[in-house]
Amino acid sequence: MARDRSHPVPLGLAVLASAVAAALYIFLRIYFYEDRLIPLTYALPLLLALWHGYRLLHWISAGFYCGLALLNVLLVDASAGSDLMNFSMMVVNIVTVAAVVDRLLVSRERLVEANLHLRDANAELEASNEELAARDEEISSQNEELQQQTEELEQQSTELQQQAEELQQQAEGLQILHEESATRANLLQALLDAVTATETGPPLDHICAAAAGAFDCDAAAVLLSANGVFDLQGGWNLAAKDESLRAALATDPFITLVAQQNRTACLEDLSAVPADATRMTSEFRTVLGSPLEVEGAPAGVLVIYGRAPREWTETEFSVIRWFAAQAALVLRTIQLQEELSRRSQEAEENTRQKTRFLAAVSHDVRNPANAINLMAELIQRSGDDPRLASEIPRLAESLRVNTRLLVELVSDVLDLSRFDSGKIDLEETTFDPAELIRAEVGQYEPLAKNAGLALIVETTAPANLRVKTDRMKLARVLGNLVNNAIKFTEVGSVRTTLCQLVDGSLEVAVQDTGVGIAVEHLEHIFDEFYQIRNPERDRSKGTGLGLAICKRLIDAIGCSLDVDSQLGSGTTFRVRVPGVMIVETDCQPSPSAPAGDRGDHVLAGLQVLVVEDHETTRLAVTRLLAAHGATVDPAEDGRAALRHLRHGIHDVLLLDLMLPDMDGREILRQLQSGRPDRLKCILAVSGDVSESRRQELQVLGASDLIPKPVEMDHLVQRIAGAVRPATAMAKRTSQ
Ligand code: ADP
Repeated sequence: MARDRSHPVPLGLAVLASAVAAALYIFLRIYFYEDRLIPLTYALPLLLALWHGYRLLHWISAGFYCGLALLNVLLVDASAGSDLMNFSMMVVNIVTVAAVVDRLLVSRERLVEANLHLRDANAELEASNEELAARDEEISSQNEELQQQTEELEQQSTELQQQAEELQQQAEGLQILHEESATRANLLQALLDAVTATETGPPLDHICAAAAGAFDCDAAAVLLSANGVFDLQGGWNLAAKDESLRAALATDPFITLVAQQNRTACLEDLSAVPADATRMTSEFRTVLGSPLEVEGAPAGVLVIYGRAPREWTETEFSVIRWFAAQAALVLRTIQLQEELSRRSQEAEENTRQKTRFLAAVSHDVRNPANAINLMAELIQRSGDDPRLASEIPRLAESLRVNTRLLVELVSDVLDLSRFDSGKIDLEETTFDPAELIRAEVGQYEPLAKNAGLALIVETTAPANLRVKTDRMKLARVLGNLVNNAIKFTEVGSVRTTLCQLVDGSLEVAVQDTGVGIAVEHLEHIFDEFYQIRNPERDRSKGTGLGLAICKRLIDAIGCSLDVDSQLGSGTTFRVRVPGVMIVETDCQPSPSAPAGDRGDHVLAGLQVLVVEDHETTRLAVTRLLAAHGATVDPAEDGRAALRHLRHGIHDVLLLDLMLPDMDGREILRQLQSGRPDRLKCILAVSGDVSESRRQELQVLGASDLIPKPVEMDHLVQRIAGAVRPATAMAKRTSQ
């Protein structure tokens, strides 16, 4: 019998208690009953069941006590006649009590059961209460969320409302913009027409018409400024030819203001502004103006006029500002187009001039070439005709002069084309200008003497001044000016002066008392195209290109060259050396350079190898060097030269750079690795005497570069100077 919730004690304890009670009753009933000391009924121990609650145990106990009653009757009271009656009463008593107890137990069990049920129900209730509370919380948090969402929704709806309003505004703005862009598109189209449709009138008039049309105005004008003065360059519905209107607009205060402040402005009602605000005629009542900006600066003004007063809107301001910017671009394009076409015309004219120049040069080349040809023929014939023999020195001299002219012409043309392509190398040094003048002028001493002219040099500039520039180029210019002065002076003098001007610059003036230059030629003497074609020019005196070259050289070194001339009384050329090129020193003026050495046997004892492929030149140079005492070996090409050089007996190598079998520089390269000890001097001969070429050859071991055609005196001097510097110096100083 399992213990359940209606049994308050364990079964064992119940059985034990029942057994003890039973034993006690056996003892009391059977052994002490007789005395009846205590009133004792069998039903009493059955109340024990109320304590332990086990009904089966209870009924077993009842049965047991019934048995005990029987036993009691049988054993103790056997003598009594009413025993059965007694026994029956005891059994009834026991059963009644047992039944009552049982009922009580049953009731208690039910009560316990009901109590348990109630407890369970209570627990369930509590659980469901908790659940309900949780749900409640959930619902309240959901409520809060809902509340928030509602608020958010309300906010969103407000925002949407605002956005809708904004969209509405934007739509309106877009509409305005759309209209504005349509206006701008029309204006752009008008501008395009202005650029392309030139046959329908000047482009600026088109621009004015477009502007007036776009703003629904009655007139428009474009004024361009030149040196601060406005000129009416285009107009629409304005009497552009009307001089008084033109003059009024040229100094119109409103237009000047727009240009000066470089911003768009308007006068809404001209009748309400001071009379001097604009000079436009009274037929107009309103004006809007915007600057035309070209490359960041106001180049003019676009103005539009209306006959009725008007309030100009922000949009109109922005549109006219934009249109003025576009119009300025168009204006610039038109200007550039004009510039381009002017330049292309200039370029074409240049090409034509160059072609004519080349034709004239080729003509000038033919003259001396023809003379050379004829002289050569005469010299040839002199062999057969003894009468001509005495003429040979004169013929030879004429040959020399014509050859020189030819070479000068070719070199001048080459120089000019080189300058044109921007190839002018500058080599700056610091030198004494007085010394330069004396050296350059000194070279022309024989020429002046021959012409019977006094050659004067005067320097008033401080002796400690030095010039920092390209000495060779300045020397070339001075030489040319002195040479010209001598050439174009019949009687009198050629005076070269050096003085310092008040601004610190130096001036070299070459002044002659010669024929002078006619005013109409004066402005062209630096122009090679003009000179070379000038039929009046004395071609026997020069190429006509010298001054053009001088001008380029002077420009290249940063000096200036001016001329001043009086026909019949003389000419003065002035070279100005700016102050920035002048430095002061403590040095005394350098001594003037000595004249050239013309000793007859100055090359005596020297072994010279002449490498030249041109036979006549080779022969001539060989003989002329031999005439100065040198022993000369001629070589016609590179291979022959290298063969000679292997012997190592030469003191001097005169090397033409353009050889048929190899470049002269290749020979120099080979010599670099094995140069004979005796070979003291290598002189390269070339038509290209540029500084870069000179430097290249020096790096390859050449002592100097001799220009072609070779000046014999110069060559001899160079050889003597290189091989025997001491001797050469001694000879110079003794002169
Ligand atoms: P050219 O080789 O003919 O001398 P230039 O360019 O040196 O060429 O001179 C150009 C022209 O300027 C000369 O042909 C001559 O008519 C004129 N000219 C130059 N210098 C003088 C001068 N000192 N006196 C007179 N005319 C001069």
